[in-house]
Amino acid sequence: MPKNVNDVALSELRRDLGACLLSSEEDIFSSSFDGLKIERRPSAVIKPERAEQVGRALALANEHSVPVTTRGVGSSLTGGATPLAGGWVLDVSGLDAIDVDAGNTLVRCGPGAVVADLQKKAFDMGLFYPPDPSSKKFCTIGGNIACNAGGLRCVKYGVTRDYVLALSGYLATGEFVTWGRATRKFATGYNLRDLWIGSEGTLGVVTEAVLRLIPQPSNRRTFIAACPSEEIALTAPVALMKLGVRPSIIEFLDQWTVDCLQKYTGKEIFPGLGANPVLLIELDSPGTSLDTESKILEDWLAEFSLQSSVAKSEEEAEEFWEVRRQGSSSMKKLADTKLNEDIVVPLDRQVELVGFVSSLREKSKLKIGVFGHCGDGNLHVNFMYNESDAEETNRAVGALRELMQKVVELGGAISGEHGVGLAKTPFVRMQFNDAEWRTMKSIKQAMDPKGILNPGKIFDVFNPWEQKKVSAPLSWERTEEDLP
Ligand SMILES: Cc1cc2nc3c(=O)[nH]c(=O)nc-3n(C[C@H](O)[C@H](O)[C@H](O)COP(=O)(O)OP(=O)(O)OC[C@H]3O[C@@H](n4cnc5c(N)ncnc54)[C@H](O)[C@@H]3O)c2cc1C
Repeated sequence: MPKNVNDVALSELRRDLGACLLSSEEDIFSSSFDGLKIERRPSAVIKPERAEQVGRALALANEHSVPVTTRGVGSSLTGGATPLAGGWVLDVSGLDAIDVDAGNTLVRCGPGAVVADLQKKAFDMGLFYPPDPSSKKFCTIGGNIACNAGGLRCVKYGVTRDYVLALSGYLATGEFVTWGRATRKFATGYNLRDLWIGSEGTLGVVTEAVLRLIPQPSNRRTFIAACPSEEIALTAPVALMKLGVRPSIIEFLDQWTVDCLQKYTGKEIFPGLGANPVLLIELDSPGTSLDTESKILEDWLAEFSLQSSVAKSEEEAEEFWEVRRQGSSSMKKLADTKLNEDIVVPLDRQVELVGFVSSLREKSKLKIGVFGHCGDGNLHVNFMYNESDAEETNRAVGALRELMQKVVELGGAISGEHGVGLAKTPFVRMQFNDAEWRTMKSIKQAMDPKGILNPGKIFDVFNPWEQKKVSAPLSWERTEEDLP
């Protein structure tokens, strides 16, 4: 009997990379979904031990037009790592070498290096890798680069993109390339390194990254404050910047979220005060400038009569951060589904955005909480709804669409750090005009002519709400801290 093209491709894959194939039912299943929990089975899972094997797998896939979805640990919340079109999953989590070059203050690492492990190795050598997504204990550098991940410290230190000096990896054809070099500057030709960053595995596969490190900040001080209004809280980042204070973290929880978490924990953050919007602020300046910045911050808090506390120990600081964690966990108790959007707006439009969410809450009769990185204008808007209730789901999707329209109208972006994946494809077209969209598509066409790399992501509309979700946990869910 003649074999079909998939069988031929698979037998060539077995011949060339048999030792890297994971074939148990469990391996296939656990590579079939990510944090969005939409399952599509791949026909093979390849776990390379060496970078060249990535090139070989891609060359075969390209020859036979087999879809390839690259995977770190599947902590994407957007379906970015779901093998939508089946085909092969390229699990690069085993390429996890980390080599700190203290002399050049940089680190070379494989895409599977876990962010917290890399940070620890840098720390042990007196250096600091700042990007810190809340998933850092399990997510990989490759995934961070592919999504241009952010986190709590971006307000002072920037996002993943700001630390990438060079990327090596493979094109869809299986050819090897290096974009950028291990140098602080690079002005030679097109900057395709930055094109790969944030491309969600649709333009190539990263097999080595060279990342910039900086000196470790010496001291830290953590504050928590209850604000009389959302306006005061949301204008704090710019107000403090003007006063010369540069927080390393400035996080916001809206009044609704604070109310929800206080009811859930049965504990008031500031006893007797009720539910007020909350700011969590960390300063990490060196030497005596920490005291100077702290004083300016305390004066600013006093000027607005904000009730506040400063942590006197690491343990107390941890208790403050627990407030942020509980904001998210308490919301999960309200319904069976939490849609966590990661929109970003200009700093001076955050007040309007949060006001708009309040009106959406009223109009849609949905539970919607806002918290997140107000220093970057990157707020997580969380819609709670019961997926089993079709009418409520429709209301949530309608409200979400209105939110996305508003974000674009305010000059913002529908994703600040999680990427488009599948989840945001229904809205991505709002973000771009025809010329921008056409240009993006022609780049995809030029770099992946057969469309084998992560098909279905970014460009094709997919409705995640119409899909049956997987109930099984992913490996990282057992250690989840949930601070996105
Ligand atoms: C609890 C929790 C908290 C989170 N907090 C944050 C947060 O604070 N900030 C934030 O930005 N994100 C956050 N995330 C989202 C997620 O962790 C990030 O998007 C992370 O970058 C994904 O890494 P990963 O290794 O899991 O990648 P995966 O989920 O496996 O893949 C993500 C995308 O990257 C592509 N990809 C992976 N590796 C490569 C590679 N080597 N080459 C090319 N493409 C590749 C995949 O194809 C996919 O499109 C959070 C997620 C969870 C579950």
